[in-house]
Amino acid sequence: MQSSSATPGRAPLMALETALEQLLAAARPSTRVERVATWDADGRVLAADLVSELQVPAQDSAAMDGYAVRVADLSAADQVLPLSQRIAAGQAAQPLRAGTCARIFTGAPMPCGADAVVMQEDTRTVGGNLHGVHIQTLPTPGQWVRRAGEDVARGAVVLPRGTRLSPASLGLAASIGLVQLPLCARLRVALFSTGDELVMPGDLAPQQMPPGAIYNSNRFFLRALLQRLGCAVSDLGIVPDQRAATQAALETAANDHDLILSSGGVSVGEEDHVKPAVQQLGRLDLWQIAMKPGKPFAYGSVRRGAGGDADACHFIGLPGNPVSAFVTFLLLVRPFLLKLQGALLPELPVSVLPAHFDLLRAERRREFLRVRRNAAGGLDLFANQSSGVLSSLVWGDGLLDHAAGHIIQRGDPVRFIAFADLLH
Ligand code: AMP
Ligand code: MG
Repeated sequence: MQSSSATPGRAPLMALETALEQLLAAARPSTRVERVATWDADGRVLAADLVSELQVPAQDSAAMDGYAVRVADLSAADQVLPLSQRIAAGQAAQPLRAGTCARIFTGAPMPCGADAVVMQEDTRTVGGNLHGVHIQTLPTPGQWVRRAGEDVARGAVVLPRGTRLSPASLGLAASIGLVQLPLCARLRVALFSTGDELVMPGDLAPQQMPPGAIYNSNRFFLRALLQRLGCAVSDLGIVPDQRAATQAALETAANDHDLILSSGGVSVGEEDHVKPAVQQLGRLDLWQIAMKPGKPFAYGSVRRGAGGDADACHFIGLPGNPVSAFVTFLLLVRPFLLKLQGALLPELPVSVLPAHFDLLRAERRREFLRVRRNAAGGLDLFANQSSGVLSSLVWGDGLLDHAAGHIIQRGDPVRFIAFADLLH
């Protein structure tokens, strides 16, 4: 990957990896833990290992509807065994009398002595009255038997601390009897937007919008992205364009939030009240990241109450351009928030796919192009890659990670990151 590069007369650009490293180094996992109903834990992060007190299945059980047998009783296919009991799921089984079989249903416990299930499709009842069963195939030991503990062994860690819970993991936790789970407390994020041009949808109808005004779109997707990560969001709206009001908003938010996230106003040389306000209350580093979209990015902190630097609320300032804010959120803020929650950080899932387009102009910065997988297994490029064009994010289903200084020719293998892997 590209390292820092210098443009004459400007501060050197920071590699995306360096920015991520610095953010992750600053993100000390929160130690606030809460117990939450298993019902409500989807997407949340486990604060402790989940250890099973029982084995699952609790005993050997049938994996098919059919007949439980002792394999040793059968010497050849096409044998008739008398029926000695019937065991439905949830019932207790009697030991299986030698030389007989038991009617059994999926999930029912295997009777002691039985070592295989013959599925009912491979049998025929004899005598009309379920007196005997014609076993038409010769079973192998263990056939259609779910072994006790084959899913979960007693004492096993079924899900380690740091796991982000998925619907399947909620099922697994429930299967070992857990009705509540120890979770990392929801991160509290205060969100606000900057920019005098911004209008909230609903405040002015489209025909009333003055020249230069735009609707605040960042607020909507940032709130949704934060909520998908399990954060509790305090939406501070558009902070008034005054130094004192901004400072007051930051000071209040710092006291009961883990992160203050803003968008806009971090471009070079911009007149903005957020930068000096954060600097006054803590510190702020303005980064120029070697990526497109998303070059300007700010990381800092706001002190809490009387606390020193050790007790501070994180501050992140995203670029104002919607696509830049969205992409930097996914690539930088998301891993930062996952680490703050104590989540295990998986590698970014990258696949290599052929480009089904030409891009013959090399960029100086690493570029994250909005692309879409097509039916032929390749990637199509959205025509307008401007960092203001939100349509590109809706049309696309992921980002093409395109190294600086290279062109793309139709058929070239390129790196693809699916939004689906980043939007949960
Ligand atoms: P800035 O980073 O403040 O210089 O903003 C860059 C561009 O993004 C400008 O065109 C802004 O109008 C636009 N922008 C900033 N904030 C928002 C927002 N919350 N929603 C939509 N566009 C925005
Ligand atoms: Mg602005």
